Amino acid sequence: MRGEPVEVADGVFVIPDGRVRLVPNIGIVVGTRAALVVDTGLGPRNGALVLARARRLAGDRPLYLTTTHFHPEHGFGAQAFQGHATFVASSAQRDEAHRKSAAFAGMFRGLGPAVAAELADFRPVAPDLVYTGDRAEIDLGGRTAVLRHVGPAHTAGDQVVLADGVLFTGDLVENRMFPIAPYFPPHDTDVDVVRWIAVLDELLRLDPAVVVPGHGEVADVALVRAVRDYFDHVRGEVSALRAAGAGVDEAVSAVTESARSRWGWDNLDWIGLTVRALHR
Ligand SMILES: [Zn+2]
Repeated sequence: MRGEPVEVADGVFVIPDGRVRLVPNIGIVVGTRAALVVDTGLGPRNGALVLARARRLAGDRPLYLTTTHFHPEHGFGAQAFQGHATFVASSAQRDEAHRKSAAFAGMFRGLGPAVAAELADFRPVAPDLVYTGDRAEIDLGGRTAVLRHVGPAHTAGDQVVLADGVLFTGDLVENRMFPIAPYFPPHDTDVDVVRWIAVLDELLRLDPAVVVPGHGEVADVALVRAVRDYFDHVRGEVSALRAAGAGVDEAVSAVTESARSRWGWDNLDWIGLTVRALHR
């Protein structure tokens, strides 16, 4: 996490991911009375770097923290905020983090020594404030952040944040990367691609001026439409192939081929997991 905050709308900042693997886009929304941080970075050291940048922008205003979903690069820096920010989450996301954090910490430590080092001192943190239902608002003074629980889609506890026309989508939307379908049977099969398409329709109806994806460049609402079109294509192909009696491996190769030629995005491997999640 090396980026510096960029102002994308009045009082709304993004620390850009620079397209670095396992680094997410991070949001900082500053009102007259308080400020909200959206996502933490991977592990306590990155969390501390995000906190320092937020503190610089917020001055002595009280800080809130929320996370788009529990995945390690989005939520596993929360411990750095303890005692410095009020951590707000939906009950669905809290419960999912509780169920899966240990397994995901293990999985991510297996990705290599650099990731393992960032997670060496990781410990899960429970939110200070939990909302039930599908929506909470934080009045930051002169601007309100709306937190919406929209999962299950990418994860069970997906949450988006809308502030002054800027929508933080977490991994529901990526820019120039095939969206991550975390279909990891038998450990985690909560990804719901069909519902994900409906969630993207809901995000389109919010008609945000600025869209901050989980990973990749800040964009506008056309990005949400592009990701929706991709999923719709994959859903259509998988159901046609299934109807024609194709097995899952055959569907993975056929859809990977058609999607890679139509969308020149990075992270081709996620196409196959999207197909597997749909084909089950
Ligand atoms: Zn994710």
